[in-house]
Amino acid sequence: MQKTRWVLLVITIILLFSVPTASGTSQTPTCSFNPTVQEIINQVTQNSVAQWIRNFSGEDFVPIGGSQRKILTRYSYQLFNLNINALAYPYLGEQLESLGYEVGTFLTDHSYSPSKMASANAGVIADMPIAIDDELFLKNKIATFPDQMLTWKNKVITIPGHGSNADEIVLMTAHLDSTSNYANTNAPGAEDNASGVAALMEAARLFRFYKFDRTIKIIFFTGEEQGLLGSFAYVDDHPTEMDNIVGVVNLDMFGYDSDDDRCFELHVGTLAESNLVGSCFSNVNNNYALGLSFDYLTSGFTYGSDHASFWDEGVGAVEVLENYSDQNLPNGCEGSDQNPHYHETTDKIGFMNLPVTLAISQAGIGTAASLAEPIGQCFAADPHITATAPTDSILLTWPEVVDADVYNVYRSTTTCAGTFTQVAQVTTNNYEDTDIEYNKYYFYKVQAAETGTVCFSQMSNCAVAKVEEPAYVIFIPLVIAGD
Ligand SMILES: [Zn+2]
Repeated sequence: MQKTRWVLLVITIILLFSVPTASGTSQTPTCSFNPTVQEIINQVTQNSVAQWIRNFSGEDFVPIGGSQRKILTRYSYQLFNLNINALAYPYLGEQLESLGYEVGTFLTDHSYSPSKMASANAGVIADMPIAIDDELFLKNKIATFPDQMLTWKNKVITIPGHGSNADEIVLMTAHLDSTSNYANTNAPGAEDNASGVAALMEAARLFRFYKFDRTIKIIFFTGEEQGLLGSFAYVDDHPTEMDNIVGVVNLDMFGYDSDDDRCFELHVGTLAESNLVGSCFSNVNNNYALGLSFDYLTSGFTYGSDHASFWDEGVGAVEVLENYSDQNLPNGCEGSDQNPHYHETTDKIGFMNLPVTLAISQAGIGTAASLAEPIGQCFAADPHITATAPTDSILLTWPEVVDADVYNVYRSTTTCAGTFTQVAQVTTNNYEDTDIEYNKYYFYKVQAAETGTVCFSQMSNCAVAKVEEPAYVIFIPLVIAGD
């Protein structure tokens, strides 16, 4: 028995030291069923996806810089041009900041020069139609507003991995920009590509509650419609990161499905690394019973979106697209089902198939989560708070949450369903609010967090309290009139 044990031990040691290979990524993600992925997918709802699409495509008013505005166009030439109808970029930043992504650390801008990229990328994207008008427009803009037009930006979220493969990165990408026949003033781009943006917003909303083995980057590219300028610049500016990318899930234009066959296209291309992402996507569709089918394109694929910038570097990437072309593949889509509103001012949410938009969003989010290998929730329990009102202040207390480094305290002055703003970050399991007015109700929620990374609990229960104005004893001096 002893001898056998020694042999086993030696074999174990050999195995332990031989698993990581010399170059590239370590173990291939299997994307088998994972209850955490199921939990994440379950929290993506048709309402939440649809609301992001409405917000980014000018359907509804949204708060931007303290004002209520509609995003009427996301045309890249307007996005960075202080056009009040094209404030998608600051809106995106504000929304992500409010989800708890720390600006400068986990939420960053990748700036690039569109004119430089347009010329550098010209050969690579020779098969993409770049409108002559756009180039002329860009030149005129640079001449008129050199400061604003020399820099465009991609928005990057980084969620550091918590496991031994934290140096490996999974990318989830979509282009934020839109275009149309009246792009400067009216380009709703609901399907192209508020659909992809919505899926990324849902990923950003949900991934912060979980720990993953690998690092996840969620990137909103711009300049896509001018020839993949944002993604090309990103790839160009991050050469060493390319070696650490496990795969890229690029979501561009999905959710139009007029025949309701739940069929779309997965542009996989020819790289073995892309096939890893593609088969993971297939597994997710099956494992979580999303009921989707798709053309798995290893030929007849398009270079017409940001995934192609990664293919050029040998990085595995797939693009999710509506059933754009007739491919006639076994188990694939029958015929094609193109959105007739493509690149028109009529690309609105009303023409989309929302149950299918939801399922494809879930598949994309599930694929990115599976590639990053979820470890579980950040916290086993969420804070439960109690509010009391001693004299002149409101005191919040809660039992400590295991593994919490800090607690973020949020307050609303209207209702439990009102707008909460962060009033404090404390390391103790209590908080005294002295910034109050008498006889006024205050509503509180607390969230546990880990510092130095992106990891949050869900919000606590809502606790309410008010401080009664003290009853003063008033002395009336007795005046004795003299005579
Ligand atoms: Zn697109």
